[in-house]
Amino acid sequence: MPATVVIVGRPNVGKSTLFNRLVGKKLALVDDTPGVTRDRRPGEAKLGDLSFTIVDTAGLEEAEAESLSGRMRAQTEEAIRQADVVLFVIDARSGLLPIDRSFADLLRRVEVPVILVANKAEGRLGEAGAYEAYELGFGDPVAISAEHGEGLADLHAALAPHVDAFADDEAEADVAVAPDADISEDDEAAAEAAAEAKRRTLPLRVAVTGRPNAGKSTLINSLIGEDRMLTGPEAGITRDSISVDWEWRGRKVKLFDTAGLRRKSRVQDKLEKLSVGDALRAIRFAEVVVVCLDATIPFEKQDLQIVDLVVKEGRALVIALNKWDLIEDRATAWAAMREACDRLLPQVRGVPLVRISGLRSEGLDELMKAVESVHRTWNARVSTSRLNRWLETVLDRHPPPAVSGRRLKIRYVTQVKTRPPHFVVFCSRPEALPESYVRYLTNDLRDRFGLAGVPLRVSLRSGDNPYHDKTERR
Ligand code: GDP
Repeated sequence: MPATVVIVGRPNVGKSTLFNRLVGKKLALVDDTPGVTRDRRPGEAKLGDLSFTIVDTAGLEEAEAESLSGRMRAQTEEAIRQADVVLFVIDARSGLLPIDRSFADLLRRVEVPVILVANKAEGRLGEAGAYEAYELGFGDPVAISAEHGEGLADLHAALAPHVDAFADDEAEADVAVAPDADISEDDEAAAEAAAEAKRRTLPLRVAVTGRPNAGKSTLINSLIGEDRMLTGPEAGITRDSISVDWEWRGRKVKLFDTAGLRRKSRVQDKLEKLSVGDALRAIRFAEVVVVCLDATIPFEKQDLQIVDLVVKEGRALVIALNKWDLIEDRATAWAAMREACDRLLPQVRGVPLVRISGLRSEGLDELMKAVESVHRTWNARVSTSRLNRWLETVLDRHPPPAVSGRRLKIRYVTQVKTRPPHFVVFCSRPEALPESYVRYLTNDLRDRFGLAGVPLRVSLRSGDNPYHDKTERR
């Protein structure tokens, strides 16, 4: 079943135009007369090699504008419930209106990934979206012109991880997520192995990011070879995101490259600032993000901010300690960095930390091995039976607390998604379960199933029938 992408936004930002652009034909239905009722429309969309179901919420526009009226809110919430990804559309020309902020407030509270789309940006894609758009808290806007078909490559890059993820989930779900009943653990292992074999035929999407001067360009150059980098596709494409196809030990890799990195190899601009927009673009493109640190000044504030972005975006992470060739007392430095890493980045406990020198091409094999390994973890699926056996033991060891005289009950746990692993815990009163207890469960889950280096999602639901919930979602 294809992923469902829902278009959300205030009246007149161009939702229908985007819908038509993605569905590829002008539906007779489109009628821009205000007051014409249109229900939420689903359509089969294609964008490059992606195919998904797209849902337009333009029918809601008859509600009064300027405030998010009750009906529009309820309908939007309903549409979002069925979404795997939301495209939140704003108008790059008119700037933000209060109602855009109301939509943003609503969308910030949902768990579904949100891609901010600045429409009507024709002819000035590079600067579009404006600073204002960042205030909404959804990161770098994807600038497009739905009407003129511009910016679709960026939209593709932003959607690809989510849309792909869903297709993979589905393929594996058939074999691996079925309830415990008659599937033995051997069968599960075999299914997991088959899924991994299939994944290995697809290119692994990797991005290298980090502060200016951490050595990203040098590292990428030594990974793929200088020539490749300089002869990559570049002519005329200004701020577009580009990937370089590459192969590592027979494994296909798509390495994210920014115009910035390519430019860098010609113009040595040492005053370059960290661009959060560029970092986000790279992170969104990737399945695995290599955060490149300068080992002589590791774990600076900006480094931690970048790691935070990676975690928020739910990508797998590897930290490269670059310029290791410059480190003198290596044993001491290594121990200190490992300790700093675990202390400063508890949200990705056990993240792979690899010592490299991009300049001397040292440690690159270890780096790529870590990338592959963390990618496997990111895709991992833990069977419901194993999860619930684990749950019994953690509950025994440290039972959930009592709140207002009643002991909280945790009944069941199941994994609902991969990339990154997302678990749902069914319990009696989710709102009452203390944060610290959820952290205990998450950490133990991570340790028990070897899920180091990837952000884990754990959500709580009331009730005890996960399969009821599952049918509701689809
Ligand atoms: P970027 O801004 O992250 O792309 O960084 P660059 O790749 O341009 O590197 C910044 C500076 O660090 C350059 O002077 C590089 O020669 C130097 N550099 C990069 N990697 C290494 C390394 O592994 N060891 C040493 N000693 N220097 C490095």
